[in-house]
Amino acid sequence: MIEIKNLHKQFGQTEILKGIDLKIEEGQTVCIIGPSGSGKTTLLRCLNLLEAPTKGTMNLGKFTLDFGDKKQVSKDTVIKFRQQTGMVFQSYNLFPHMTALENVMEGLVIVRKQDKVSSRVKALHLLEKVGLKERANHYPSQLSGGQQQRVGIARAMAMGPEVLLFDEPTSALDPELVGEVLKVMKELAKEGMTMVVVTHEMNFAREAADKVVFIDKGVIVEEGTPEQIFEHTQHERTLQFLNKLC
Ligand code: ATP
Repeated sequence: MIEIKNLHKQFGQTEILKGIDLKIEEGQTVCIIGPSGSGKTTLLRCLNLLEAPTKGTMNLGKFTLDFGDKKQVSKDTVIKFRQQTGMVFQSYNLFPHMTALENVMEGLVIVRKQDKVSSRVKALHLLEKVGLKERANHYPSQLSGGQQQRVGIARAMAMGPEVLLFDEPTSALDPELVGEVLKVMKELAKEGMTMVVVTHEMNFAREAADKVVFIDKGVIVEEGTPEQIFEHTQHERTLQFLNKLC
């Protein structure tokens, strides 16, 4: 359902992504792992068009985007494409002056132009799904980091995206709060949500991923099932990376 071909991203003279080919099937959870600075976040941001790829193509549902010399993707396409790829950020990015409920409703009312009553019902349902119905009227400052991140997940889901993108969703959290966020993500994975997760949580990748993609220096070194990558890799670079984590 998502197909990326020969994707490149350059910042100035520096090429960060050097020809990424990746397929993500509907319902799959794909975990992207790799050393710091290897291009994981850049790839995710390209998938959401927060960064414009320098070259390559991306297919998602009815969208086929072609990037390259003088090829401009229209603003309208960027907006529509972005609505299909809900992003969950490392630092939550909630609106501080809005309650949890208002944060989740915002996109439905403003972008989707849905009425407030049905938006509220949908947002409450999503907050219940992430275990936060009781906190609907709390402001972000009254919520723990783990709770804020769960609101972030509910907010991304509210738009009904084809795929959810997670950028190191637990790395800003105190260790005791990581589990509650990963639990919600595992439930979504089980329910068949398509997810791409940039993560340093190898246990999550091991348990929840259908596919693990190892990136180093802007290229995919290898991809496979968690078992193939974590137990049977033959690649020197993957081994080095995994050994450093132990
Ligand atoms: P980490 O695990 O540390 O988050 P990462 O694999 O996600 O790393 P990226 O954040 O994608 O890595 O960054 C890859 C490289 O691209 C880094 O060298 C970074 O400095 C560079 N980079 C990222 N964004 C920009 C930008 N907007 N302008 C210039 N360079 C950038």
